[in-house]
Amino acid sequence: MIEIYDTTLRDGTQGEGISFSLNDKLKITKKLDNLGVHYIEGGWSGSNPKDTLFFKKVGSVKLNRAVVTAFGSTRRANVSAEEDTSMKSILDSGADVATIFGKSWDFHVMEVLKTTLENNLEMIRDSIRFLRSNGLRVIYDAEHFFDGFKKNADYAMQTVEAAQSAGAETIVLCDTNGGTMPFEVSNIVEEVKKRTTVPLGIHAHNDGGTAVANSMMAVKSGVVQVQGTINGYGERCGNADLCTIIPNLKIKLNLDCIADSQLKNLTRVSRYVSELANLVPRNDQPYVGKSAFTHKGGAHVDAVLKNADSYEHTNPESVGNSRRLLISELAGKRNILSKAKEHGVDLSLAKTKEILNTVKSLENDGYQFEGAEGSFVLLLKRALGEDNPLFDAESFEVVIKKDHKGITANATVELELDGKRVIASSMGDGPVDALNRALKDVLTPIYPELKLIRLTDYKVRVLDAKSGTAAKVRVLIDSSDGKKTWSTVGVSTNIIEASWNAILDALEYGSV
Ligand SMILES: [Zn+2]
Repeated sequence: MIEIYDTTLRDGTQGEGISFSLNDKLKITKKLDNLGVHYIEGGWSGSNPKDTLFFKKVGSVKLNRAVVTAFGSTRRANVSAEEDTSMKSILDSGADVATIFGKSWDFHVMEVLKTTLENNLEMIRDSIRFLRSNGLRVIYDAEHFFDGFKKNADYAMQTVEAAQSAGAETIVLCDTNGGTMPFEVSNIVEEVKKRTTVPLGIHAHNDGGTAVANSMMAVKSGVVQVQGTINGYGERCGNADLCTIIPNLKIKLNLDCIADSQLKNLTRVSRYVSELANLVPRNDQPYVGKSAFTHKGGAHVDAVLKNADSYEHTNPESVGNSRRLLISELAGKRNILSKAKEHGVDLSLAKTKEILNTVKSLENDGYQFEGAEGSFVLLLKRALGEDNPLFDAESFEVVIKKDHKGITANATVELELDGKRVIASSMGDGPVDALNRALKDVLTPIYPELKLIRLTDYKVRVLDAKSGTAAKVRVLIDSSDGKKTWSTVGVSTNIIEASWNAILDALEYGSV
């Protein structure tokens, strides 16, 4: 059994742009517990009011398996453990398990703590004994352990022995600066294991791009606890990504950590945390990314449809992800067929050829349907004559005005709806917003369901940068009605027209 120790709520929040509210932290705690992790590091108790409050509140959250730990440092250099504020906050947190970090690297002891090597050992022993005597279990994080070991192995080992003798139940070897290589981790962990009896853990950062590899090598060399964060969030280049480590442990190394049924929650938890962190999920993230089981090349798609093992290292369902087949110029007919089937549309071979040709010619014009499934479904329906245009003909006008008071955008749209001409004007934050509002003003009396549709993301890509300001642009819009989300695309040399086309598709797709 390998213990999974999650530090998303503490180390993860050190990542640039990441901040969780108290409520977010409580919600994530619940999700992590459902995922089946063994430990959830709740925060640095006493360091800020939010973390202090978190420990107050988390006591009443019912957890199945996970134990919430309070993080802190060893006591300061010239204060006794009893009088130290960090020690006191850990006791005040009410947590049963404390995770405290201490220095393993002589350089840090002398240059950062500005104390003697012997006093640092005393600080480690003292702090752990104090917490133990107050009834807490203690996990000891040996900060900068690998760097310390490389510079002064004897001293680094003395710090580990100090923690062991004082009663730490697990000693976690930290690659705090994240620059250690997998083979070094493996050698050092084996060496430490020979000279200690206490169970070991690994805490790796990703500055060398090897945090996951380092964690895997540490497990192979005998550690029994892996620390990391959801999506690898963390300071600088992040922490070891538990969303890769957990399936690696289970599927590749056949080691027990969370249950198979819990593994199926992994993709959902990954996206949930990125949602609360307000960060766009990485499509190419192993196992849980949107592209992790996505096939584009025609020959690959053909092979995967015959047997998924041909181009997949593992089964997407095992981690709660799903297979996607992309529509692109490279796509073959089978791609179109299976995509249509996914949306409940049956196509004849002749229609399939026709649609494939349409896709190819639109892609020549700059369209791309990979990220715009909404527009693709409409394309299918148009080819079959099953589409449902919202109106017959249109014109629009957008006026942008900048003066000393600021900048304003005003859009007017004129549509032919059921043989009648209707017109509406609206101001907006920008031209696209103004158009969107004016369109909705005209359409919602007839299509009330459009009221719920929100534009959630808007991206512009310049297609032929060489043409400068006359270049063609592709606009990609994400929309949501609160239940489902969809993406649509528009292309034009005029950015407003490209946006208009993408908005029309978004509303038409959302109205069915
Ligand atoms: Zn860390």
